[in-house]
Amino acid sequence: MDQWDALDTARHLLMDETPLHRDCGALCDAACCQPDPEGKGGMLLFPGEERCYDPLPQGFEITEDPHGMGLLLTCRGTCERAERPLACRFFPLFPYVRETDGGVALAVRMDRRACVVCPLVEAGVSGMKGTFAHAVRQAAKVLLNAKPHRDYLVKLTSFIEITYTLDGGTAWSGSA
Ligand code: SF4
Ligand code: SF4
Repeated sequence: MDQWDALDTARHLLMDETPLHRDCGALCDAACCQPDPEGKGGMLLFPGEERCYDPLPQGFEITEDPHGMGLLLTCRGTCERAERPLACRFFPLFPYVRETDGGVALAVRMDRRACVVCPLVEAGVSGMKGTFAHAVRQAAKVLLNAKPHRDYLVKLTSFIEITYTLDGGTAWSGSA
C-alpha cells in the first residue's frame, strides 16, 4: 500500500475514536497535551505526516526530534480533532511492532510513555472502550502494509522499549 494512503486511512480510522465514552481529558486536565516541567513536549510524526500540517495551524511547530526519530510536532495545548497527529490518536495505547522470522508481530498495549501522565494506565487496555482498542489495532495493521511506516514502528518500538523500561514484563506479555 502507498505510504500516504496508509497514513490517511489510519488517521481516518482514529478520527472519532476516543479511549473512553466520555472526555478523558476531564480526568486529568488533558495532561498529555501539556508540556513537561521543562516546557518541552511534542509528538513524533509518522513518515510523511508533515504533509498534513502544510500550512501549519497557528500555534503548531515542527522540529527535528533530538533523538533522531524524525519530526516532532509541538502544539498549543488544544486542537481540533482533525489537527491531531496519529501519535495523539493512538495515545494512551501504542502498537508495538517487532520483526519476526515470518514478518512482523503486532501488540497493542499501553504506551509506556503514558505511565507518568495518564490516569488510564492503571486500568490498562481492558479499561478502554473496546472500539478504541480495535481501531488502534486496525490502524496499525493498515500502516504495516506500507514499508516506511512498518520500519518506523519497528524503530519506535525499539526506542520506547529501551528508553521506558517496565517492572516485571515486556510489551509482549499480558493480554490485548
Ligand atoms: S493523559 Fe490519558 S486520560 Fe488524560 S487526556 Fe491524555 S489519554 Fe486522556
Ligand atoms: S495535538 Fe492536540 S491532542 Fe495532540 S498534544 Fe496537542 S492539543 Fe493534545
